[in-house]
Amino acid sequence: MFSRGIVGGLGGNLGMALQDYFKIASNEKPSRMRVTKSITADYCMELDALWSEHEKVRAEYHSKYIETSWNGLFRPEFSYLDLKIMIADKILENCFLCEKNCKIDRRIETGFCRVSKPAIASEFLHMAEEKPLVPSHTIFFSGCNFQCIYCQNWDISQQPDQGMVVEPLKLAKIIDLRRRQGSMNVNFVGGEPTPNIPYIMRVMKNSKENIPVIWNSNLYLSEYAMKLLDGFADVYITDFKYGNNRCAEDLSGISNYSEVVRRNHRIAYDAGEMIIRHLVIPNHVECCSKPLIKWISDNLGSEVILNIMSQYRPLYKAPEHPEISNLPTMDEIQEVISYAEALGFVNII
Ligand code: SF4
Repeated sequence: MFSRGIVGGLGGNLGMALQDYFKIASNEKPSRMRVTKSITADYCMELDALWSEHEKVRAEYHSKYIETSWNGLFRPEFSYLDLKIMIADKILENCFLCEKNCKIDRRIETGFCRVSKPAIASEFLHMAEEKPLVPSHTIFFSGCNFQCIYCQNWDISQQPDQGMVVEPLKLAKIIDLRRRQGSMNVNFVGGEPTPNIPYIMRVMKNSKENIPVIWNSNLYLSEYAMKLLDGFADVYITDFKYGNNRCAEDLSGISNYSEVVRRNHRIAYDAGEMIIRHLVIPNHVECCSKPLIKWISDNLGSEVILNIMSQYRPLYKAPEHPEISNLPTMDEIQEVISYAEALGFVNII
């Protein structure tokens, strides 16, 4: 059912960069989430106590993940995943899932992202993701914590109530069914999946199949939410947009973009495997594309998988902003690719 030969077909470097992913996809090893489900945690009530238990168990998880085989998996009464879900639920009551830090009770009001419920805009076996990922069971959540004026998915991201709310157990069964139908992974995306972390974790608690979990995100999560994803996500697909805060503020309404997103790239790089996507925006090669690629090279190295995307279209409010109201030119795209190649990136897809 699974494409075992795909690593060789991709060339050694790419196969190495996604080594765990391919092993999980071919059921040679359990996913991070399966290991997390098998580790016992102590039940506690208060958020401080939950966090200290989380950090204690996290150390155990890291040593266990490397050596765990299928034989080492148990079903404890209260697992490390249950602990993560409890913490995520408590964060929702005073929401700081992302660095917008709205601190409102999401059970009764909405914050900057306007997400009130886990509305799913669509789910299907996606054949147009990066080659190592397809067929990818992609689940699109409505709503986003960014308000990009050129959003390429604005009909989903800026309409947080559009979509179906599906019971966690039901979605878990769909994920398992898609897996049996041949999906290589489950891919949580949007909009942005971050506002729905408690729901997504609950869904995966109910899933029975072994499947790589992809976190497909702008990576503007709080440091706390990043800790919850450690031991949950196997692959981070990141949408790295900007090389400076001024462009992030002007185009997405985010003032502290670089500090947060760079920090989270470092955390995610240590916690799992990674594909970094970068959409080339017209007139933002010097201020955004090049500085962020240089940062990746200096901080994560040039073996990271980099998907330089050329499909920008002037959608949503972009036609009202002359600087981004056209397609990027072929010269701009080529300049970004050449820049990455000159820095030694070996996995440009
Ligand atoms: S997810 Fe982010 S934007 Fe949405 S309410 Fe929570 S902190 Fe605010």
